[in-house]
Amino acid sequence: MALHLTHEVLRLSLRDPFRIARSDHDAGHAVTTVVVELRDDRFPDVVGIGEGYPDRFYGDTVDTMAAVFPLLLAAVGEPDPTPAGLVAAGARLTSAIAHHGGAKCAIDIALHDLVGKVTGRSITDLLDLPGPIPPTDFTLGLDEPAIVAERAIRASRFPALKIKCGGPSDLATLEAVRAIYAGPLRIDANTGWQPDVAVALLPELERLGVELIEQPFPARRLDQLRWLQERSSLPIVADESAVTIDDLDDLVGVVKGVNVKLAKCGGVGPARAMLARARELGFRTFLGCMEETSVAIAASAAVASLADWVDLDGNLLLADDPFTGLELGDDCRWRLADAPGLGVARRAG
Ligand SMILES: [Mg+2]
Repeated sequence: MALHLTHEVLRLSLRDPFRIARSDHDAGHAVTTVVVELRDDRFPDVVGIGEGYPDRFYGDTVDTMAAVFPLLLAAVGEPDPTPAGLVAAGARLTSAIAHHGGAKCAIDIALHDLVGKVTGRSITDLLDLPGPIPPTDFTLGLDEPAIVAERAIRASRFPALKIKCGGPSDLATLEAVRAIYAGPLRIDANTGWQPDVAVALLPELERLGVELIEQPFPARRLDQLRWLQERSSLPIVADESAVTIDDLDDLVGVVKGVNVKLAKCGGVGPARAMLARARELGFRTFLGCMEETSVAIAASAAVASLADWVDLDGNLLLADDPFTGLELGDDCRWRLADAPGLGVARRAG
């Protein structure tokens, strides 16, 4: 066995409380994420860093991740330290076991970092994705309208805001934010709306300059999503309904956009493939994240040139990101360090 993995569960405080409409989502004042270190006997001086977010909604917990890591590692075997080797390793991760996107993501990111460090190539060089990436928006969780508006003032440097909806005062919240912020608003109900409420809101959302509506209804209710998209001039974006590349075909003709996340689909390689396939199928592509550190955000930024919209702000929601090396430009575009692999390292101290 050439690969060795250790993992660490991190409990990280948030800058501001962060709530969404799904009740299973326990993020409030702190979040839990899993960081891994991957070593390869062939390259004893190199450590690949990865991260996977344990989201119960998608079948990952801290315990399930620890349980499937050995199985996934065995499936990967001894990958070639090349771009083709990474693609082959990703395919073996995908086929080793269904679901468990967070666990697969942690190993897949660590493999990219390790191979980058072994070969002296940045992750964007390994992926051959040097293109420009869109700026990230900034996400505001559910709260009282005045509190959300106050957070919007603090986030006014961002060229777009993502507003969590599905609470009791969505319209009041959007009105309060619009009163102090001029840019596009992207709204995400996290499955929390009813069809009659959503369709009644459409004229108001258009008036308020909403750019897209993410996952208004439960993941399996493609009938409801199609019904609303047929009545909406705004794109409906599937998130909870679009977990892996295998979900895309069923969404054609249902919604106009899909939200791809590394923690859902299983890492860098699967996200790249899912974004490319989504564009082939005519979707607008949104690249999202969980409440993750700079490790997962850097890995996500590496494929962001394949996205039309970017929501990579998980590390910005943390009070103290334990990693350093990823920089947000004045234009709100992520800049990866010009260094091998992900270009991120543990913050000293
Ligand atoms: Mg979402």
